[in-house]
Amino acid sequence: MTEPRIKILLVDDTPENLVSLEAALSGIGEELVMAGSGKDALRYLLEDDYAAILLDVRMPEMDGFETAELIRSRPRSRQIPILFLTGYRSEEHLFRGYDLGAVDFLFKPIVPEVLRSKVAVFVELSRSNAKLQVQADELRRQAEVLQKAEQRFRSVLAAAPDAMVVCREDGEIVMANSQTEVLFNVHRDDLVGHNIRSFVPAWEYKLRPDWEDESNTPGTYPVLRGVELHAYPHDGSAIQVEFSFSPLQTEEGVVVTCAIRDISERKKAEERIRELNSTLEERVLERTEALMRSNEELQQFAYVASHDLQEPLRTVSIYAQLLRKRYYQHLADDADQFIRFIVEGSERMENLIHELLDFSRVDARGADFFTRITCDQALDDAIRNLASLIEESGAEITRDALPAVKGDLIQMTRLFQNLLVNSIKYRSDDAPRIHVSAQSLKGEWLLSVRDNGIGIEPQYSEKIFGIFKCLQPRADNAGSGMGLAICRKIITRHEGRIWVESALGEGSTFYFTLPRRD
Ligand code: ADP
Repeated sequence: MTEPRIKILLVDDTPENLVSLEAALSGIGEELVMAGSGKDALRYLLEDDYAAILLDVRMPEMDGFETAELIRSRPRSRQIPILFLTGYRSEEHLFRGYDLGAVDFLFKPIVPEVLRSKVAVFVELSRSNAKLQVQADELRRQAEVLQKAEQRFRSVLAAAPDAMVVCREDGEIVMANSQTEVLFNVHRDDLVGHNIRSFVPAWEYKLRPDWEDESNTPGTYPVLRGVELHAYPHDGSAIQVEFSFSPLQTEEGVVVTCAIRDISERKKAEERIRELNSTLEERVLERTEALMRSNEELQQFAYVASHDLQEPLRTVSIYAQLLRKRYYQHLADDADQFIRFIVEGSERMENLIHELLDFSRVDARGADFFTRITCDQALDDAIRNLASLIEESGAEITRDALPAVKGDLIQMTRLFQNLLVNSIKYRSDDAPRIHVSAQSLKGEWLLSVRDNGIGIEPQYSEKIFGIFKCLQPRADNAGSGMGLAICRKIITRHEGRIWVESALGEGSTFYFTLPRRD
């Protein structure tokens, strides 16, 4: 890059002198500006900066010394070196010149070589001054950038949601934000310049030597997160905090920016979860045992109650029938009706007890009844048992091939029977159409009984599997509400699941699974 030309001001009232000065200096390659008087010179100096002024002493109007005095009086031109051109060598003359800030004298007649070499010195001086100026500007700019960066860092620190401190490697705090004051319950003065160990005794930060190699940018290191420590704020409390360390190598050594988060609440919650987890298993076991006990007791009760109730009920039923037989139309008018109610009621109750007994017997059958059976056979038996109902209703039953499973044939027959009865019982205006199918899934069979009946509202799809649950208990065809409860019990005993998918008026599909034992 070529350096900019430096300006030199030549001041002489004699044009010939100016020309010869110009000629003498033409070799130095700088820009020469010529002024014919002190006034002109002052005007030029207002407009531009010059590396040196060559000033003739003897000039009309304003001589060289007066001009120099004015040059010196102006701040902008005060520092410009002045070379006086003079014919006098008197001491007084020289003193006056030096007094006015002359740096040198050139005596006429001027020797071009001397002139050139003197001017060259000023040019050189001016150039190095300019370079120094550039460097100084650059330094000032860098200082400003640094100051801005530090200001930004401080405002980031202040705005951070966590407590943030900047420490030296030995723990001395260099900077801290206001969240740190809140966290440790102290004034900033008790933070900056103090050691972080006075709040967090176990605080320690050491650079690992291998980090140096891992780092892409020299002087930066990986951020170390999740260091959990105990802290002791100045109010005498104790809290648990989590540190993230972000170290930086600086000229003054390593500084570590630490983000500190109060995790006391989280720790308490974790502790509570741990405690709960350890007791949970015990409690589940206790509950399961208690449930099994109460289940057994209930079963026992259902069995005993239904079994023992049968006897007195039969007595009531037999005597009510006897009453009707012997005294029909022999008693008061409404007696016949009362007797009828007793007979019907006891029949219904007998039926209910019978179902309840069936229900409680499902689990009572031993493991011996579990054999290799085919679901086809169970469905065949069920259809055979329901032959007259199927015929009467005009039901059409279609089926896929059903799988072989390990199960209780009597109970599987009962299951199909209950489902088929329901499909026929809860039919729509159309003749019942029932399809039984099976599908192989991972580890189990999925069987289904689909009908075109009245359907079930989805909110009842679980309720209907309960004991004595009928959706239309007052209807003519109302059953005991035990059919599906028995189905669920059978399927549970076979380690499967049973459920229904249906919507009102859309027919129903009952699904059940059975484990595969290939
Ligand atoms: P029950 O038939 O004796 O009432 P269930 O336990 O067999 O008892 O059925 C419970 C209830 O579920 C029935 O009252 C009926 O409302 C409903 N339900 C069962 N199967 C079907 C079906 N295939 N279509 C429509 N509703 C059904």
